[in-house]
Amino acid sequence: MLKIGVLALQGAVREHIRQIEELGCEAIPVKSVEDLNELNGLILPGGESTTMRKLLDRYNLLEPIRALAAKGIPMFGTCAGLILLAKEIVGYKMPHLGLMDVVVERNSFGRQVDSFEVELSIREIGEDIPAVFIRAPHIVSAGEKVEILAKHEERIVLARDGRFLGCSFHPELTEDTRIMKYFIEMVREYN
Ligand code: GLN
Repeated sequence: MLKIGVLALQGAVREHIRQIEELGCEAIPVKSVEDLNELNGLILPGGESTTMRKLLDRYNLLEPIRALAAKGIPMFGTCAGLILLAKEIVGYKMPHLGLMDVVVERNSFGRQVDSFEVELSIREIGEDIPAVFIRAPHIVSAGEKVEILAKHEERIVLARDGRFLGCSFHPELTEDTRIMKYFIEMVREYN
């Protein structure tokens, strides 16, 4: 059975675990370096990227997660998780994990509306996929090899860079598991 870790320092952890289990995989909450052993894939959930970064430093997880990525383990970042994965963050000198070849900007969908839900048509995945945005980032630009899978208001909100998948919104907060299924297929391909 495939083992998918969910970084469990902060944020929407349980919801990812529920979808992973619903799709017949084992979900491992990741709180320490030992939890990274034997993972086939890793999810970086939404939450608050600055807080998550502090916790990643406190628990010494930043380098071990980079090492896991270097071993070829697929990773999926949602919302704050996308910010953690990105190679560049607008307005910041340094990225966090810096693994995915995209430039992201934080809190990019208007100040008045903190959160909203839309239905997206997503390349390779399907139509009418519900997407919940909560103070969401967007992908400002992406490297040549990055596949743009979805846009909202002309902004890139879902993209794949080889074994890294990143989205602006929260697929785990809906009953629709198609995006998670797509990630699990990526994990199967790489393992
Ligand atoms: N605005 C948050 C950040 O910058 C992300 C919000 C989310 O994950 N829902 O980290």
